[in-house]
Amino acid sequence: PCTDFDVAYFHSYAHLGIHEEMIKDRVRTETYRAAIMRNQSSIAGKVVVDVGCGTGILSIFCAQAGAKRVYAVDASDIAVQANEVVKANNLSDTVIVLHGRVEDVEIDEEVDVIISEWMGYMLLYESMLGSVITARDRWLKPGGLILPSNATLYMAPVTHSDRYGDSIDFWRNVYGIDMSAMLPLAKQCAFEEPCIETITGENVLTWPHVVKHVDSYTVTLGELESVTTKYKFKSMMRAPLHGFAFWFDVEFNGPAISPANNHVSSSFIESSNNQSADVSQRKKRANPSEALVLSTAPEDSPTHWQQTMVYFYDPIDLEQDQLIDGSLTLTQSRENRRFMNIHLEYTSGGRSFVKESVMR
Ligand code: SAH
Repeated sequence: PCTDFDVAYFHSYAHLGIHEEMIKDRVRTETYRAAIMRNQSSIAGKVVVDVGCGTGILSIFCAQAGAKRVYAVDASDIAVQANEVVKANNLSDTVIVLHGRVEDVEIDEEVDVIISEWMGYMLLYESMLGSVITARDRWLKPGGLILPSNATLYMAPVTHSDRYGDSIDFWRNVYGIDMSAMLPLAKQCAFEEPCIETITGENVLTWPHVVKHVDSYTVTLGELESVTTKYKFKSMMRAPLHGFAFWFDVEFNGPAISPANNHVSSSFIESSNNQSADVSQRKKRANPSEALVLSTAPEDSPTHWQQTMVYFYDPIDLEQDQLIDGSLTLTQSRENRRFMNIHLEYTSGGRSFVKESVMR
C-alpha cells in the first residue's frame, strides 16, 4: 500500500536539487553509463524498465545503447520533467515515461532488462531495493539482465580524533571558558544519529567485514526486513576507536554467470567474513572478467553517498591486535519502513555496550 510516508518520500524526489546532486556525482553516473555501454549487446533491440527513472537519464542512456523500448517509471512528479526531456530529445518513440509506482503501473509485456539506481545511504536506507524486486518479479523474462547485478555492504572500525575534537573536545575551552557542562548534550547532538561524512583509508583500523551481500536476481523482500551479522575485528594499530564506518559497492556483471565464476565469488564472500579478507583482492577475484564496480569505499573516489558513520559517545583506546566483536542488526523501522533502525552490540577488552540509532 502507498502510505503517507511514501507520499513524503516521492515528494522529496520532486525537487531538482536531489537529482542534480546525483547526476553531478560523476563516479555514479559515468559508471552506470559505462555499464550500459558494456552490456550494449544485451540492451540493443531489447525492452528495458528503469525503476525510478528520476530525470530519465539512465533511460536515455539505454535508448542511446539501442534499446527497442524503455519504460521509465517514477512515482515522483519529476516524471513530468523526464517526459519533457524525452520529447525534446526525440526519443518519445522509444522511452515511455510512466508516472506512478513500480508496484502500481501496468506494463503489458515482459522485459529483458531492469536497470535501477536504488542504493541509499548505508546501501539499504530508503528501502528502494524492494521496488526493484517487485519489478523483477512482475516483468523480468527468465534469463533477463539486472543492473546492477549485486551489492555488498561493509563495515569497519574507525579512528577519527579530528572529528571528535571538533564536535566534543571543542566545548572544553571556549574562548577561555570551561563549557564542559555541554559535553553530554554535545555527544548526543553529534553522535546520536548516524552521520553522512567522508573519511579516508587512514581512518580505517582494519579490513572491512561484509554486513550483507545482495544478489539482484535472487534477493527477496523478506530478507531485507531485517539484516543481522556478527562481526569480529582485530585492530591493526594502537588508536582511539571512535565508531564504525559503513560503505557499499555494486557490480555490473553481464547476464550469464558461469558456474566457475559463481564458485569463486561465493566462496570468497564467505572468507571475506573472516579477518584475512582484502578488499582489493575481493574485486579481482569476484570479477575475473573485470566487471564494473561502483564503489563508495573510503579509499576510492568520493561519491555523494560518502560513508555512513556510527560514532560512540566516547572513544575507546585500542591496543594493536586488540579484538573487537559484536553484532549488528539493521531493521526497517515500524514507524516508517523508509527509516532504518541500527542496533549495534560491541564487546572488547572486557567492556560491552549497545548503541541504538535510527536513520530518518
Ligand atoms: N534513475 C535516476 C534517479 C535515481 S533516484 C538517476 O539515476 O539519476 C531514485 C528515483 O526512484 C527517485 O526519483 C524516486 O522517486 C524513484 N522511486 C523510488 N521508489 C519508487 C517506486 N516504488 N516506484 C517508482 N519510482 C520510485
